[in-house]
Amino acid sequence: FTEGLEAISGLPCLTPDNYRIPLWVNTGLMTDTVRSLDRGAEGVGLYRTEVPFLLRERFPSELEQEKIYRHQLEAFAPRPVTMRTLDIGGDKSLSYFPIKEDNPFLGWRGIRVTLDHPEIFLVQVRAMLKASVGLDNLRIMLPMITSVFEVEEAMHLIHRAHTEVLSEGLPVVMPPVGVMVEVPAAVYQVRELAKQVDFLSIGSNDLTQYLLAVDRNNPRVANLYNSFHPAVLQAVQKIIDDTHKEGKTVSICGELAGDPAAAILLMAMGVDMLSMSATNLLKVKWTLRRITMEKAKDILAEVLTMDNAQVIRSSLELALCSEG
Ligand code: PEP
Ligand code: MG
Repeated sequence: FTEGLEAISGLPCLTPDNYRIPLWVNTGLMTDTVRSLDRGAEGVGLYRTEVPFLLRERFPSELEQEKIYRHQLEAFAPRPVTMRTLDIGGDKSLSYFPIKEDNPFLGWRGIRVTLDHPEIFLVQVRAMLKASVGLDNLRIMLPMITSVFEVEEAMHLIHRAHTEVLSEGLPVVMPPVGVMVEVPAAVYQVRELAKQVDFLSIGSNDLTQYLLAVDRNNPRVANLYNSFHPAVLQAVQKIIDDTHKEGKTVSICGELAGDPAAAILLMAMGVDMLSMSATNLLKVKWTLRRITMEKAKDILAEVLTMDNAQVIRSSLELALCSEG
């Protein structure tokens, strides 16, 4: 599908009625970086820092991490790079830091692990801050936030790391900090969370899994895992509206953002930016460059009256075909 789309790599994601929506990428491996830049990514909405951790046999040192992060920040500079703090647990466990639990997705995951191990968190944040010196394109994002106190604790640690790096004589600026909204509790805490941070980002992969109570990796219930479920769509709309009430920006960095049919809905809902795998960048841009915001809003209004994820999905396909 992406074949022949290279021609639009350098063009902005602009609808025919001049609505501009930035398209960012999700990265982890260095190969993602080259593909992303070739396809005109405007920034990184999610850099999964656990990827370099998963590729090693022990925790990378502060200096090793600094080098890895510097590489990523330099490759995209001056574009912003959103680095998510370590999101292990769930389905991602490190061989050198095993976590054995009956219900890993409801267990010790993401921010829960790093707040229990502030030494891991501090090393990581210091490495990010040091890597950003002179580039100033770093944004830090916290995964699996469920309660406001987790953000308060994490902010406290980030400020501490910042002070430590400053005291080493490095001219590091305090980066914007954001949280992922991917746990249902966070959906109802968006305004309180937004007051604490600079930006929010919707993790539709986990949000779908937790809202629908469907394991995102279990083939037996894969037919039930559908981000077009009206409950997910309504949650996303609420997150966007509540974030904007606090004057903050909200992006979406789950797989949903890279689905052209969903991108139409998300744009109409007013999301500030879409972040996706580089593979989907050009087809999403191609789709959004052909549909007016006015039409997208009509489609959204119609979809929000429907109660079945599969019907929603197929009616979007139909709308796409008739536009195409
Ligand atoms: C998500 O949950 O939507 C997300 C982007 O994070 P991950 O897929 O890494 O859990
Ligand atoms: Mg997630």
